[in-house]
Amino acid sequence: MFKTTFFGVRGSIPSPGAHTIKYGGNTSCHFIEVGDEKFILDAGSGIKPLGDFILKNFKPPFKYHLFISHTHWDHIQGMPFFTPIFFPGTKIHLFGPVNYADSLENIIGGQMTYVYFPVNFSELKAEFSFKDLTESQFEISDIHIRTKNLNHPILTLGYRFTYKGKVLVSCYDTEPFYNMFSPEDEDTYAEAEQTVREMNEKLLEFIADADFVIYDSQYTKDDYKKGWGHSTLDTAISNCLAAGVKKMAIFHHDPSRTDTQLEVMLDYARSLVEKAGSKMEVILAQEGLTVSLEGDGA
Ligand SMILES: [Zn+2]
Ligand SMILES: [Zn+2]
Repeated sequence: MFKTTFFGVRGSIPSPGAHTIKYGGNTSCHFIEVGDEKFILDAGSGIKPLGDFILKNFKPPFKYHLFISHTHWDHIQGMPFFTPIFFPGTKIHLFGPVNYADSLENIIGGQMTYVYFPVNFSELKAEFSFKDLTESQFEISDIHIRTKNLNHPILTLGYRFTYKGKVLVSCYDTEPFYNMFSPEDEDTYAEAEQTVREMNEKLLEFIADADFVIYDSQYTKDDYKKGWGHSTLDTAISNCLAAGVKKMAIFHHDPSRTDTQLEVMLDYARSLVEKAGSKMEVILAQEGLTVSLEGDGA
């Protein structure tokens, strides 16, 4: 088995309402079932409906590998509401990028102090383990996992899961690496140009030939905010095309983007793919949607 289901697709802040009812208003969370293992990718507000799904479909004790892309609020804020953490016997192996200001345990668990929440982290019935990650590769059972630093205001990791030749990659939150020096400072600028080119090439190599990539596409060319750490849809599509990706999901929807506007973005994305003469499939990340990587996969 190798499949992933979206439980939260929105960036920045949960956005319930009539304008998001079709694609969903919860922040980042996916459930990945692969081989005999179960992974959760991010603990945004989507982890609340994921907890409900787990209680309905699986029996305790619950054992999950929880991978955090980074600790911005929209990727961790649902954690206190993930009901399985209140069950004895639950084991959560939590992985996330190293943070030099504080430990992962304090950042994630710090949301559960009496200041913010009625139950203290130390009172939970679940057992937690925490592992800081940098760029690395490792195995869990027969699943190969590779991590990659992305370009975001804090250390943020993309994850590449390979199982039986099929590849799933998360590539968010990120924007292209760019040169921060002034062209007037000729030597430094030229040197930085070279470094930036290499860093962007390494990102293409990280997503290369993937069966399915979930890519930060928060902005259009018109509303791109340089330095805020998110990609435009144009960048997401051109990178996935250049890397030979088979299927990609437009993800981390802007909180103000309506369902109709998202569908306009999807049409535009598909027109770019067609213009490039590619067969890459493009979809909108949507709450409740499952993508299988088995069989013809993708
Ligand atoms: Zn985010
Ligand atoms: Zn972020």
